[in-house]
Amino acid sequence: MDIIHLLPDSVANQIAAGEVIQRPASVIKELVENSVDAGATDIKIIFTDAGRTSIQVIDNGKGMSPTDARLAFERHATSKISGAADLFALHTMGFRGEALASIAAVAQVEVHTRMKGEELGTVIEIEASKVVRQEIEQCAEGTRFIVKNIFFNLPARRKFLKSNDTERRNIIQEVQRIVLAHPNVSFRLFDGNDIIYDLPGGNFKQRIVSIFGKKTRDISRQMVSVSADTILVKLSGYVGTPESAGAKTPQFFFVNNRYMNHPYFRKAVIQAYDRMISAEDVPPFFINLEVDPATIDVNIHPTKTEIKFENEREIWSIITIAIKEALGKFNIAPSIDFDTTGNIDIPVARPTAGVEKPEMPGITFDPTYNPFSESRSYNKPYVSHNWQDLYEKSIKSEKPRQEPALWQTHQGNALEPENSTNPDLTESLIHKNRYLCLSMSNNLLIIDIVRAWHRIYYDNLISMISNNSGSTQKVLFPYLLELTPDDFCLFSEIELDLKAIGFEITAFGKYAFQIEGTPALFTENIDPVEVINKLLAKIKEGNIDIKNSLHSIIADTFAKSIASAKVDPGMSAKERNILIGKLFASSNPNYTPDGKKIIEQIDEEELSRRF
Ligand code: ADP
Ligand code: MG
Repeated sequence: MDIIHLLPDSVANQIAAGEVIQRPASVIKELVENSVDAGATDIKIIFTDAGRTSIQVIDNGKGMSPTDARLAFERHATSKISGAADLFALHTMGFRGEALASIAAVAQVEVHTRMKGEELGTVIEIEASKVVRQEIEQCAEGTRFIVKNIFFNLPARRKFLKSNDTERRNIIQEVQRIVLAHPNVSFRLFDGNDIIYDLPGGNFKQRIVSIFGKKTRDISRQMVSVSADTILVKLSGYVGTPESAGAKTPQFFFVNNRYMNHPYFRKAVIQAYDRMISAEDVPPFFINLEVDPATIDVNIHPTKTEIKFENEREIWSIITIAIKEALGKFNIAPSIDFDTTGNIDIPVARPTAGVEKPEMPGITFDPTYNPFSESRSYNKPYVSHNWQDLYEKSIKSEKPRQEPALWQTHQGNALEPENSTNPDLTESLIHKNRYLCLSMSNNLLIIDIVRAWHRIYYDNLISMISNNSGSTQKVLFPYLLELTPDDFCLFSEIELDLKAIGFEITAFGKYAFQIEGTPALFTENIDPVEVINKLLAKIKEGNIDIKNSLHSIIADTFAKSIASAKVDPGMSAKERNILIGKLFASSNPNYTPDGKKIIEQIDEEELSRRF
């Protein structure tokens, strides 16, 4: 008996849908891209309940005939390509003809559409790939899709959806990518009755400002236009001045009007800033690349945002050179306006000599800060330690240990182990304000002070989050934290944890907060707004090395900021001993939470080999 049979279309569609439609944001992406492809100049997007209950996309595009409207839901139904050759000359968004079939397989879909010039339109209702209604009707010109109850027939996938905040953030992120790629189209995005974006059609600069201008004050002053016209690629867009670089900046690449993620080209951008920005920062950038579609590996996977370029290396250097050039110009005339678009023609291998570099931004810190001042509640003096003991136990096992699970970290105050004995004062020496050298058990130890504090505060913050035990210091003048709608969603996910470590935060307007108190751990030279932004950026990046829990990301970010704000040139012997004791008592004295070495040990043998 034969056992192979073809899957019914509805099943095949569900399988395909697993790839194309992962969440409400993917439905929005596909529908809106179709509207753009249909030549719409005005697109309205409405979602409710983070897209779970309903998503509507209404366009004024060319509409569909009754037959096309029905065919559109068949798999591999597309008006955009007819043969394999077309794959290599593609300028539209979608082309696999899979999106609508996939959406219809996993949701209840209704479409109303009328072609330009026709008197009547069509309405079709489809549920789990079955057409339940098709009629002629009077409707507006263009197309209106309504997608209800995504994954209604796949309870497991529906359950898999993240919190409303997260799904909403995904929607906003997806919409940002599309609206930036099509600044000439007018868009409105609604969350129920609340309007999130109201974007009239305009140019690229206006679009950037209307999305990011609110958050980054006067973004137009901080952006430099960049362009290059070469045989391989036509580059245009805007990059931030070195001062505008930060841990959390908008970063967008588009190729042939579609968003792409390109870590390699992102490095090219960073490289152009050379030593003008710090290693952790990235400048904001909005860069369009126009290439011959035949030289890129087109969207073989529908949800992939990575794209392969035939001339990757050359484009890499074109990006770097174009940006250096733009920054050089900026430096000569710092008042240069965002509008200035001097087109420069850069050959592939143009030397960069002579391009002036803007000066390095300075870093400020408070040298008078005393981390041991009694006023700080977390710093009850750490009485003492039997170091040799702690050293034997914890340091000698050289390998990085697993990060302890939250519940395994020191309960109560991680900085104060119970088994305190008499201080065992050891001679230590500070080198360059950064390294602490001491001799222990026949070994010479060199401790990176900043990293040691990073570890100590990390442990401390983790225990604060789990015990809700952070204390607060009131600030004299509240800080204003203004967020973009997507960061606002993200923020609400971490708000409780922030409060647990001592932040006092109150809502202040639609997407803004007032910070009225900061964790007592914070020194004066830490800007809470900056650190929170850094944190949001880190969470968004998603690929953090340390344990993936939100708590460790939060603790890590703050611990790092506090540690690096704590450069203390005048550490007394006692203070050094406190640091050493706290470090040895920590959950992992050898490595920082993100895996960097804290202690270098040189044993006798190694030492004698050097003489
Ligand atoms: P693809 O976009 O890859 O062609 P889709 O499944 O997304 O596949 O869409 C199938 C077809 O339906 C499109 O090729 C297009 O002809 C038609 N279509 C979809 N959405 C619209 C719209 N908003 N306006 C006009 N035509 C549309
Ligand atoms: Mg499509």
